[in-house]
Amino acid sequence: MTKRKGKFPIEKVELQEIPFLGQYIINSILLQIHNIPSPLLDVNMARVLERYFGERKLSDIRYDPYLQELAYRVVNHSASKEINWAILDFAAEICKARKPLCENCFLSATCKYYKKVFNRRNS
Ligand code: SF4
Repeated sequence: MTKRKGKFPIEKVELQEIPFLGQYIINSILLQIHNIPSPLLDVNMARVLERYFGERKLSDIRYDPYLQELAYRVVNHSASKEINWAILDFAAEICKARKPLCENCFLSATCKYYKKVFNRRNS
């Protein structure tokens, strides 16, 4: 902190060298402090992305290459903060863990999860 005058480094590799900083916090620092597009990938964002695009292969979000790349691609935008917040709000209000509001969701026409559940109900 003294060496850096109380500021977090901007390079991801340098942040990774700081003890006790995990992937989510490092991405938060990059996004919120340095304005570098980064996903706030937690279980809620993972749920939305996986339902809409398809499921990950590995159980741990942090190490699943498909989910990691997907999350980066989705938020890689000049409005990355807003996109991150919108996904997290959407996860809390619409694409909830239990009983997602699929019937009223504007993404249902192209959502993999919805297609799967809808097809199951109608077969
Ligand atoms: S249709 Fe349902 S599962 Fe798909 S994104 Fe919307 S709320 Fe989530």
